[in-house]
Amino acid sequence: MNGTVYKSTGSWYTVKTEGGTFYECRIKGKFRTQEIKSTNPIAVGDEVIFELESIGDETVGVISEIKERNNYIIRKSVKLSKQTHIIAANLDQVFLLVTLNNPTTFTSFIDRFLVTAEAYDIPVVLLFNKMDVYDKEEMVEVNYLVKLYTDIGYHCIEIAAKEGKNVNKVKELMLNKTSMFAGHSGVGKSTLVNALEPGLRLKTAEISEQHLQGQHTTTFAEMYDLSFGARIVDTPGIKGFGIVDMDDDEIGDYFPEFFKLKSECKFNNCLHLDEPKCAVKEALENDEIAWSRYRSYVQMVTGEEENPYRERS
Ligand code: GDP
Ligand code: ZN
Repeated sequence: MNGTVYKSTGSWYTVKTEGGTFYECRIKGKFRTQEIKSTNPIAVGDEVIFELESIGDETVGVISEIKERNNYIIRKSVKLSKQTHIIAANLDQVFLLVTLNNPTTFTSFIDRFLVTAEAYDIPVVLLFNKMDVYDKEEMVEVNYLVKLYTDIGYHCIEIAAKEGKNVNKVKELMLNKTSMFAGHSGVGKSTLVNALEPGLRLKTAEISEQHLQGQHTTTFAEMYDLSFGARIVDTPGIKGFGIVDMDDDEIGDYFPEFFKLKSECKFNNCLHLDEPKCAVKEALENDEIAWSRYRSYVQMVTGEEENPYRERS
């Protein structure tokens, strides 16, 4: 039987068949893991093949195979000697909620998030939330950011989750897809999910970032079917993605507007830092590339700590 993993507790997996039936499944014996070594061989979102088995009057499933993943997101535990945990697989898109203030979402955070998503090969939609509270000056700033990221090629939507503004646009994008919501604590993830599906409570909101930083918690994602024909993956306490191991010369490829110019740089291994005849630096001087984006890039390549800033228009 074919199915999709909706929940995992470590040893048991809740799998939904194409017909819509849920089975509790386990893995038999040694399981051949896929691309990477991880603490969990199977993650939420995985497509699996399983056979039914009767134990007493109970019918359970035994997973025999896992299908190739389109993508997956990981978390690395620093405490557990950098062991990798696969949070979720086969995501169609991630919605990153952004607010100007309460809380402030810095462009450095947005850019790191986008780079990681590019590396994971997961499309991101930027949702500028709390549009109901911004004054004139803040509106100028939001419009600037929307234009900046739209020009690069990212889909941006201005919403007000609390009032339901443009929530239908988010719904439309979610149809028949598996989505995840991300963003700082307080940006409105739970409010949005509640506007999409009244009554559904996210675990995302229940675990504070502080708590996660303080100690290692094994966090299990869970997938939910929404009544209008969409799936969401709820990932407790994850504001962004896990860190991806990236080589310095790879990072520029994940800034789409840099990548486009790469072939015009004099050196084909140009890092766009101090090299002569760099097309990216030239575009920067000509205001064709945003300083905030370039600054994020330099911070990532030089391994600087994230130095929060926000580009003012
Ligand atoms: P989460 O931590 O990302 O899940 O954020 P919440 O959904 O808990 O929202 C944090 C706060 O922002 C709550 O007080 C919400 O009522 C408020 N909030 C969420 N969306 C909006 C919005 O569109 N406009 C306004 N004014 N407040 C909002
Ligand atoms: Zn260059």
